[in-house]
Amino acid sequence: PVDQPNPDPSKKTLVILGSGWGSASLLKKIDASQYNIIVVSPRNFFLFTPLLPSCTTGTIEHRSIMEPIRAIIRNKEASVTYYEAEATNIDYENKKLVIKESANHDREQISSTRTIDFDYMVIGVGAQNSTFGIPGVQDNACFLKEIPDAQKIRQKIMDRIEAASFKNLDDEDRKRLLHTVVVGGGPTGVEFAAELQDFFEEDLKKWIPEIAKDFKVTLVEALPNVLPSFSKQLIEYTEKTFQAEKITVLTKTMVKKVTSDVVTAEATNADGTKEIIELPYGLLVWATGNSARPVIRDLMSRIPAQKNSRRGLLVNEYLVVEGTEGIWAVGDCTATKYAPTAQVATQQGIYLAGLFNQLAHAVTLEEEITQLEQIVKSATNEQDRKAALSEVDSRTRRLRRSRSLLPFEYSHQGSLAYIGSDRAVADLSFWGNSSNFATGGSLTYLFWRSAYVSMCFSTRNKLLVIMDWLKVKIFGRDVSRE
Ligand code: FAD
Ligand code: NAD
Repeated sequence: PVDQPNPDPSKKTLVILGSGWGSASLLKKIDASQYNIIVVSPRNFFLFTPLLPSCTTGTIEHRSIMEPIRAIIRNKEASVTYYEAEATNIDYENKKLVIKESANHDREQISSTRTIDFDYMVIGVGAQNSTFGIPGVQDNACFLKEIPDAQKIRQKIMDRIEAASFKNLDDEDRKRLLHTVVVGGGPTGVEFAAELQDFFEEDLKKWIPEIAKDFKVTLVEALPNVLPSFSKQLIEYTEKTFQAEKITVLTKTMVKKVTSDVVTAEATNADGTKEIIELPYGLLVWATGNSARPVIRDLMSRIPAQKNSRRGLLVNEYLVVEGTEGIWAVGDCTATKYAPTAQVATQQGIYLAGLFNQLAHAVTLEEEITQLEQIVKSATNEQDRKAALSEVDSRTRRLRRSRSLLPFEYSHQGSLAYIGSDRAVADLSFWGNSSNFATGGSLTYLFWRSAYVSMCFSTRNKLLVIMDWLKVKIFGRDVSRE
């Protein structure tokens, strides 16, 4: 078994799983001097996901939205241990965590497992892509969740375009190679389709004019409209903008099967009849939402209180994993009434940091009270005894306040999405959701940009993102293949 090198025996060991929105915001705000903190994540950086769709076309370079975990822990009050590893088994009863580390030594993949003992744990491992078991998806589609996904899409876009430029290709093959099908009309699918069409209009058309007449993006959505979580007015605005941008939107169309070059879907016509349609494609991007990771499914299967949950871990109002003690969960790995968004995960991480700081404060007060009670007992004169007693009183009151924890409450700030040709949509909430404001267009796009820059993790990230936007404005996007 391994533990933190030189843990302080007087402190509890807190293991934080993941380095995403939930875990990183917890890590940023927690008082690290109060716990032996161990972070376990296979990704040694925080990823600013809202700008990931922009990485698929080179509008943003991927390193601009990565923040090393070491940079986050370097500035903490006390040392924090980081293991680049994956949690594979959480023994919630005996408080033992099994992690698997993988390393590449001279092209040889070596992996080893270890066990970590913990007192407290926060699970923030996010979710994986859902495929609903639809045949062919896992093998043929690209996803859009992590940096390698965006890199793969970027590479495939140029791959297909260069292949389509071969002179001896027949029309059908060229059209297929230049057809990108995006499945899922949620924000990920919409933003990716928008970014790709921008890339075509602003750069590809100029550099490779021979592809212009056959380049096509189709967005497929099972529900009657795209962006189902946005207001009706913004849905209509998005669909109109897509029409103007020449992105084909197929709503009420459910993908049923995928092969290496054709997507088969069932479309519902206006009169309610159904028909099977086939969409030959060169690039397929799959964005149909989240499903629970294996480590979470395994944990849920072993906790009786979790047996009715499929989407993720059930947590109580203090984010404690139902059926466990000393284990909390945040973000996309949980199943709550909130949407799986960065906004929710961040607020949950900040809430838990406050909770852990409050717990640590309570422990310090308890220790001080015990010491003061000794002084009361051993005091030789009345004045010292009274002074110590009054200190005990005041600390007991503070301890009571520290122990009265408030449940987690989410405050929705609104939703933003980029829809292409320098336009965005925003559903904003003010004064604790009591007032809403829906807006779309170029001014909203400026707001979208400034909001995302201000949300970037570090000043370095902010500057890099601004520089990427400037670079694209001046020189256009890079069309070379990596
Ligand atoms: P994540 O941020 O996904 O982090 C999970 C972490 O756990 C990662 O570090 C991962 O490496 C690690 N991990 C995985 N498996 C293990 C394991 N077995 N053991 C240990 N660690 C593990 N939300 C918004 O609010 N606004 C947006 O504009 C927005 N845009 C998005 C754009 C895209 C393309 C995507 C994919 C999502 C977007 N989201 C947005 C949603 C948002 O990114 C997620 O809701 C958010 O990332 C959830 O945070 P999290 O901390 O739960 O998980
Ligand atoms: P999502 O769950 O929001 O949308 C997935 C869509 O895919 C749904 O509309 C669903 O009807 C559709 N779908 C499912 N199966 C299908 C099939 N077989 N054929 C056709 N369509 C199918 O997923 P997402 O867009 O990946 O977003 C995941 C989470 O991340 C959401 O909570 C979202 O709000 C958040 N997010 C937010 C932003 C933003 O705020 N700008 C951007 C990206 C993601």
